[in-house]
Amino acid sequence: MTDPYQQWQVPARLSRLKDLAYNLWWCWHPEARALFKEIDRSLWATTHHNPVYLLQQAQGRLQELSKDEGFLSRYDQLVSIFDEYLAAEKTWFKQRHSDFSGKAIAYFSAEFGVHNSLRIYSGGLGILAGDHCKTASDLGVPLIGVGFMYPQGYVQQKISVDGWQQNVYDQIDWSVSPVRPLIGKDGERVMLDLSLDALKLKVAVWEVVLGRVRLYLMDTNVEGNSPADREISGRLYGGDRAMRLRQEIVLGIGGIRLLRQLKVPAAVYHANEGHSSFLFLELLRERLATGLSLENARREVADSGVFTTHTPVEAGHDVFDEHMVSEYFKSYWLAMNLTQEKFLELGRAPNAAGWNMTALALKLAGRRNAVSRRHGQVSRRMWQKLWPSTPEEQVPIAHVTNGVHLATWTQQELGWTYTRYLGEDWWDNQDDPALWSRIGAVPDEELWRVHTRCKEDFLKMLRSRARERWMAGLAEPSQVMAQGALLDPSSLTIGFARRFAGYKRATLILRDRERLKRLLRDPWRPIQLVFAGKAHPADDGGKALIQEVYRMAKDPAFGGRVVFVEDYDMHVARYLVHGCDVWLNNPLAPLEACGTSGMKAAINGVPNLSILDGWWEEGYNGSNGWAVGQAGGRREGENADDADAADIYGILEKKIIPLYYDRGPDGAPHGWVKVMKESIRSAAPRFCGNRMLKEYVDQFYLPALASPVAARGR
Ligand SMILES: *Cc1c(COP(=O)(O)O)cnc(C)c1O
Repeated sequence: MTDPYQQWQVPARLSRLKDLAYNLWWCWHPEARALFKEIDRSLWATTHHNPVYLLQQAQGRLQELSKDEGFLSRYDQLVSIFDEYLAAEKTWFKQRHSDFSGKAIAYFSAEFGVHNSLRIYSGGLGILAGDHCKTASDLGVPLIGVGFMYPQGYVQQKISVDGWQQNVYDQIDWSVSPVRPLIGKDGERVMLDLSLDALKLKVAVWEVVLGRVRLYLMDTNVEGNSPADREISGRLYGGDRAMRLRQEIVLGIGGIRLLRQLKVPAAVYHANEGHSSFLFLELLRERLATGLSLENARREVADSGVFTTHTPVEAGHDVFDEHMVSEYFKSYWLAMNLTQEKFLELGRAPNAAGWNMTALALKLAGRRNAVSRRHGQVSRRMWQKLWPSTPEEQVPIAHVTNGVHLATWTQQELGWTYTRYLGEDWWDNQDDPALWSRIGAVPDEELWRVHTRCKEDFLKMLRSRARERWMAGLAEPSQVMAQGALLDPSSLTIGFARRFAGYKRATLILRDRERLKRLLRDPWRPIQLVFAGKAHPADDGGKALIQEVYRMAKDPAFGGRVVFVEDYDMHVARYLVHGCDVWLNNPLAPLEACGTSGMKAAINGVPNLSILDGWWEEGYNGSNGWAVGQAGGRREGENADDADAADIYGILEKKIIPLYYDRGPDGAPHGWVKVMKESIRSAAPRFCGNRMLKEYVDQFYLPALASPVAARGR
């Protein structure tokens, strides 16, 4: 494999453009995006904001720009900002914890959502991982990501005329992607030989750079591997159970062996969800191999291990057949000096069959957390069986509520408004509530004007996507309408976008069609509904829900005011969380572990209308949005769906619609803007990435770094 980076050139005067393009730092720095856009505005659009692709296509233009004084000075300035960032002289971590520089925190995740030009994420979990790594880069936390490069990524969604999700996969084109093969000191591509009873394969490694943080992404599509093995890392969440097990072995065990091969000074190991739990097993094997007793080896693994669980939904936890697991680990348990029975015991949850990846991680990692306060309670109840003599409240699973990377998710123009009224330092001091209390200083008309522009941009994006499909002959008129061609920028717009899984109840608001129709068709104060989301490629139930929404979107009776946006991804998500008026979330409590799209909306002044579950149970304060139902979900015996739907209609009719359409003489809805401001003020400091990462550092990473194991190295 030759390094695609070496295959093309830019003019010498602009040589650093390549470094900028290959470091995804650009995607959360508006000044970098502006420079790429300036190179060629239309290529920037047609390459879907992919600088690597753009630079390759814009050779002639780059020659011109290398003589353009104005451009050169902006380029030089950007390069110096970039270099200053990388030099990391005064990061939060370094200032507080300089004694730990030189050690690394290895962060394992099956997916990383960084930017759309790298489709190796499916949804919330991956985007959280991406936000975690970007925040680590900003704060100077010495973190290294370990995961997979999926040459075919996650499913792309096309909707048929009849509303059925078509699963489409595209092969990634390495030559135009912001990834590089990892090259060793010998100048050769780094390859890992992974051998484990029934598994014997070679793993190639790709490197993705996010500011100061590196991701090492493994890929089994390597010559010499069997066709089946080449498929292991083909797709995210594709394949059957056996394939999934092999994936997770490569991720957890391969990941640790890769760190050893690369001599990464990892001292803390963080598994983001159970997909990578095998890493703890490998750590245990390593320590037993040094001659430690099982008890001492376990203590050391516990000391350096952090595990985050992400869902209370049973199906979200990987459980494998024990026979299947045994096929791969025979020599492993012998090497660990364990019997098969004792070995299998490590992956067992009490009174349940199978090898449970969550149970494994909970047993071996000594620092464990759920992702919201409510999810902490639910997880302690769910897993008390592992600590039968411990009262539920003392089950050792803490919580760190998720947060979102503000620089990624704040709309650019709104970011400038924050700079103007909160100060240049709003981004650095994002977790300071006092800073956000100054949001009141933003004039109502100004905030409203920025929001209105976001909404217009959003509707424009929908129309141009619909137009493209129409012009390509790929859509019928009813589909053009279903994609949002008839949306009206002055109507109250409610967004609902997330994975289409049963418990998220996407169709709840469609429950009483007549009541909804009255709201949609009100001539003076109409509402509009915008849906987006994928179903897991194998989930026909989820696909049926999409179809139900889509059929309504095509039904003339709803006047084009119900819309389904295809292929929900980070790009679409940005437009949605910036441009809707209200963000709706109505899961069946307590099944939403946290939810992050509502945070993205809230920090952009889009208030939430949500069930008191996940983060909203912490975030709702009575004046920053609206709560559906009661804390903890419906009582038993109540019909939760009917009751929650009735609640939603009632809140819309009595509160949201009247407030939204109550305009002052200047045309701005002052009562509404007050809720927008309260949404920003209350959510930004608490649900930002910095608050989240600092909690991980203080509660988990630092104690682990300070442990004797870490001090000894490894
Ligand atoms: C933020 C985000 C999610 C996660 O949102 P939830 O509210 O947790 O469901 C999923 N997909 C995309 C594309 C996102 O941007």
